[in-house]
Amino acid sequence: MSGRPFLQIPGPTNVPDRILRAMDRPVVDHRSPEFGQLVKALLPDVAKVFKSETGKVVLYPASGTGAWEAALVNTLAPGDRVLIFNNGHFATLFAEAARNLGIEVDEVPLRWGQGVPADLVEVKLRADAGGAAAYKAVLVVHNETSTGVTSDVLAVRKALDAAGHDALLIVDTVSSLASIDFRMDEWRVDVTLTGSQKGLMLPPGMALLCVGPRALEAGQSGGSRRNFWDWNRIIADNATGFYPYTPATLLLFGLREAVTMLLEEGLDDVFGRHERLASGVRAAVDAWGLKNLCEDPSEVSNSLTAVVTPDGIDSGEVMKIARERYDLALGVGLGRIRGKVFRIGHLGALNELEVLGTLGGVEMALAEAGVPVELGSGVAAAQRSFVAGRQAVATPVAAASR
Ligand code: PLP
Repeated sequence: MSGRPFLQIPGPTNVPDRILRAMDRPVVDHRSPEFGQLVKALLPDVAKVFKSETGKVVLYPASGTGAWEAALVNTLAPGDRVLIFNNGHFATLFAEAARNLGIEVDEVPLRWGQGVPADLVEVKLRADAGGAAAYKAVLVVHNETSTGVTSDVLAVRKALDAAGHDALLIVDTVSSLASIDFRMDEWRVDVTLTGSQKGLMLPPGMALLCVGPRALEAGQSGGSRRNFWDWNRIIADNATGFYPYTPATLLLFGLREAVTMLLEEGLDDVFGRHERLASGVRAAVDAWGLKNLCEDPSEVSNSLTAVVTPDGIDSGEVMKIARERYDLALGVGLGRIRGKVFRIGHLGALNELEVLGTLGGVEMALAEAGVPVELGSGVAAAQRSFVAGRQAVATPVAAASR
């Protein structure tokens, strides 16, 4: 097909030309002084994206799944208990990762499409036995990528405080960092983990963590047996700009450019853009008469939307038509919601016109799959949402210039 493919899955996301150009270079010596300088200057800037001044950034050549493992083995030992709320496919896998490492997991089932209820966190923590069997950590997926739900991490922090519980707070921001407001220090998150391939606009291949002081301390005196994932060795080497293994050198050049782009745009404006684009997508879903899997407007994700297909329509069929006829890749329904939802990714390097193109493709695929949508209705609803959003932003400027 001619023209550019539309990659609108909720990650990996489109890599902007600026980042592609930054990585398009000969492979460098990762023990050269120049590379050391790059690392030393880069890590504190990456911490800004996590909104952390006290945390240490640790990068691994890995994916989000590796980031889970790094967070778990550095802070927890086999037999330690953790609390997690299962509200989707990635919370399920995070819990499974912990169990596979010998950690005892108290997994509270929730409806898929719901956020982590902070009041329930508090109830569970207050009821905790204490002593050696006490929860050592609460694991939270900030943005559940399988359902399009954002949980309130600050409310979870407050629940920990209200219960007077000192469990570590470990947060997966794989599909929220650099897309949805997240404040590591302010919310006193102990470990934040993510991957390179979503809001950071990079290709897959890098796991990123920001490790707060309490988690660092836990990792110095304990944790599980580990080698590659041991962040103590990495942090020690990073002080001079080096790594105890071969880092993903070219991705680091890309990360340098990505962080520069995010800081140039301003994180709050990046979040505002994601909110604007997401509102347009949600307006389109409403106009089609379809349901967002996330029912609570205060929990809808600004990085993706999981759209429920009507009874009798396999969401996989909609995706197949979109891919085969329009070169538009949408996210599949994962786990128990396979065939029931498809996901529109709207995170990373993206603008209004790209969202309108995506929605136009989704609309045609829906119609061709037999969903009774009026062609143009979703695109028009998103356009109205975008114009209204722009006018809301423009009004104070116009008023000030009068
Ligand atoms: N956590 C969340 C919220 C995710 O969305 C994903 C992947 O999409 C992962 C973890 C796992 O990351 P990866 O596929 O990079 O291993």
